[in-house]
Amino acid sequence: MLEVKNISGSLYFNPIFTQMVRTIEDKEEGFPDPVKQVKRQAYQLKSWIEEQRFPVLPIEPLVVIANERSVIKFDPRDKINPQLVIPSSEIPYKINYFKNKYKTEAHSNGQLKKLINKLKTSHTPLLTEILQRYQISPTELKQGVQCQKCSSFPMIRIHGRWICSACKHLSKDAHIQSLKEYSLLINQSISNAQAKEYLGIKSRDSVKRLLQSVSGKKGGANRGTKYTLDFFIDNPSSLH
Ligand SMILES: [Zn+2]
Repeated sequence: MLEVKNISGSLYFNPIFTQMVRTIEDKEEGFPDPVKQVKRQAYQLKSWIEEQRFPVLPIEPLVVIANERSVIKFDPRDKINPQLVIPSSEIPYKINYFKNKYKTEAHSNGQLKKLINKLKTSHTPLLTEILQRYQISPTELKQGVQCQKCSSFPMIRIHGRWICSACKHLSKDAHIQSLKEYSLLINQSISNAQAKEYLGIKSRDSVKRLLQSVSGKKGGANRGTKYTLDFFIDNPSSLH
């Protein structure tokens, strides 16, 4: 398990206070200990694998310092951190070392495939309150459906298709991208009125049809109905 850190400067791993101290331009700054972090993650993954009733396999945690210009420093008495913190160029040698260390296979190929699938289906993407984090008000966002060909706003919905007001590009499903963005930026559920405004559609019925076609679930009744926009929840691979 690799915890990759891209932090520049001189990085000192303090074994007593389990802290990483970064020095850059004569300024010292403390960071939470990445070794402790990756060890905790390795422990959590091991517990998770056990819960799924798969045979336990060895997990080796490593902190990888990705910035090649960073200087890594340890206490001379420190026996642990120098084994666990490596520059990225060391990765191939470490993998080789682990290959020699663990010669017996913990899983058959079939088990491994099952475990990989289980990991994929259990994956939940990190959804943050992104607007809040960058202090952007939802009213600052551009409304409407964007043309995927020329990037102009907005596309206009006519006779069941989207047409770009700038380049006349036609699209059947340009609203899907807009609703994906809405789910990431604003909320993972949307009402008919909100979608009407956001997509710039006048007809309540067309909005209803569009929302029903992208959302399997809805809650509430009549005007309070909220459609779930779960593009990134049930199918994380669509993020890419
Ligand atoms: Zn266009």
